[in-house]
Amino acid sequence: TNARLVVIGGGFGGATAAKFLKHFLPNTSVTLIEPNETFVACPFSNLVIGGQREISQQAFTYDGLRALGIDVVHQTAGDVDVDAHTVSLLEGGGSVAYDKLIMSPGVDIRWGALEGYDEAAAEVMPHAWKAGAQTSLLRQQLEAMEDGGLVVMSAPLAPFRCPPGPYERASLIAHYLKTQKPASKLLILDAKDSFSKKPLFLEAWAKLYPDHLEWRGAADFGRVVSVDAPTMTLSTDFEDIAASVANVIPPQKAGEIAERAGVADETGWCPINPLDFSSTLQPDIHVIGDATIAAPMPKSAFSANLQAKFCAMQIARQVAGLDLEPTVLANTCYSYISPDQAISITGVYSNADGQLASIDGAGGLSPENADDSVRTAEAAQADTWFRTITQEAFG
Ligand code: FAD
Repeated sequence: TNARLVVIGGGFGGATAAKFLKHFLPNTSVTLIEPNETFVACPFSNLVIGGQREISQQAFTYDGLRALGIDVVHQTAGDVDVDAHTVSLLEGGGSVAYDKLIMSPGVDIRWGALEGYDEAAAEVMPHAWKAGAQTSLLRQQLEAMEDGGLVVMSAPLAPFRCPPGPYERASLIAHYLKTQKPASKLLILDAKDSFSKKPLFLEAWAKLYPDHLEWRGAADFGRVVSVDAPTMTLSTDFEDIAASVANVIPPQKAGEIAERAGVADETGWCPINPLDFSSTLQPDIHVIGDATIAAPMPKSAFSANLQAKFCAMQIARQVAGLDLEPTVLANTCYSYISPDQAISITGVYSNADGQLASIDGAGGLSPENADDSVRTAEAAQADTWFRTITQEAFG
C-alpha cells in the first residue's frame, strides 16, 4: 500500500513498533523520528549504578533498523499538526507527512512539581530516571563519596516509569555500600506506603542489607516535600535531612511532544483505546509505552515492547482492511536484589472488554523465602530477557 507510517521516539516502544510495521507491511514506507544516534537503555542501568556494568553496555544504535529499510531520521519531533497529518522537525526544519502515526516518547520530568527540583538541581541531585549522563553522574557521586556518607533516595507516588525500579536500585546501591563503603547507609524516603514486590524486597533487605538500607514510607513521614540542591537537603513534613549523595526520583508525565500533539489529558498521560492503542483524543495517532494510561499494565520496557508489536499488527490489519481483534497482553518485571540474584512479578491482561483488565489467577510473584538457587535462576532469566528485548528493538 501507499500508507505513510511514522513513529516518534526510538526507544523500547518506538524502535520495536517501526520494526514490526516494516515486518507486517514490507512494501510500506516507515519513518522513525528520534534525535539521538545512540539509545541508552534504562533496564539494567541500576547495575551500572551498583558498579556491575559499564554504561557502554547500555548503548544501542539504529543501524539494524536502517538495514531493514526503515528511514531513521535523527531529529526531534517539534510539533504534530493533527489536521494536516504532519510532524515538524525541530533541528532541520521541514516536516514528515503521515497517514498513521505511532508515538512512544517515554516520560519527561515534571520540573518543579517537587519544590526545589528543577533542571539545575538534577545536575547536583541526579534522578538517573533517563539513562545516560544522569546514570554516570550518580555512579560517580557514589564512587567519590567518603565511607560513612549518607545516600538518600526519594521515591515518587504512582504512576511513574518502572514501578519496582527505585527498589532494585536501592538494593544494588546497598550492595555497593556493604561491600565497598561499609560505614555508609542508604535511606529511602518514599511518598507512599506500598510498592511493587514490597514483601520480597523487604525480605531481601532484612537478609542482605540490615545495616545498610532503611526504607521510610509515607506513614513514617517518608514523603519528601521539597529539596534544596545547594545544601544537599531533602525535607519531609517532619525533618530536614542532609545527604552526601541524593538520588531524587521525581514525579513524571508523558514525553512533552504528547502534550503538544494533543494526545495527553489533564493528568499528563495519554488515554488510549486498548484494542489498538489509538489515542482517544486525536485521530490516526496511536500512543504506546510509558506515555500511555494503560494501567494495570505497568510502565515498563516489557509492556512498551508488547504494546508496540500489538499496535503495529492492528495498524497492519486496518491497512489491509481487516477487522481488529482483541488479544491478551503480559508483562514481567525482573529486579535484581543483589548482583547475582533477582525477583520478578508477572501480570497477564485482556483488552477484550474495551479496557485493560488483569486476568485473575494468571501471572504472579516470585515465591517468598525461596532458596538462593531460585533467586540466581531468575537473575539468569533477567539477563536473557534483556538480551532478547534489546535484540528485538535494535538488532
Ligand atoms: P523510551 O524507551 O524512553 O523511549 C522514548 C524515546 O522517545 C527516547 O529515545 C526519546 O529520545 C524519544 N523522544 C522523546 N521525545 C521525542 C520527540 N519530541 N521527538 C523524537 N523523539 C523523541 N523496564 C523493564 O521492562 N524492565 C526493567 O528491568 C526496567 N528497568 C528500569 C530501570 C530503571 C532505572 C528505569 C528508569 C526504567 C526501567 N525500565 C524497565 C522501564 C523502561 O525503561 C521504560 O518503561 C521503557 O523505556 C519505555 O519505553 P518507551 O518507548 O515508552 O520510552
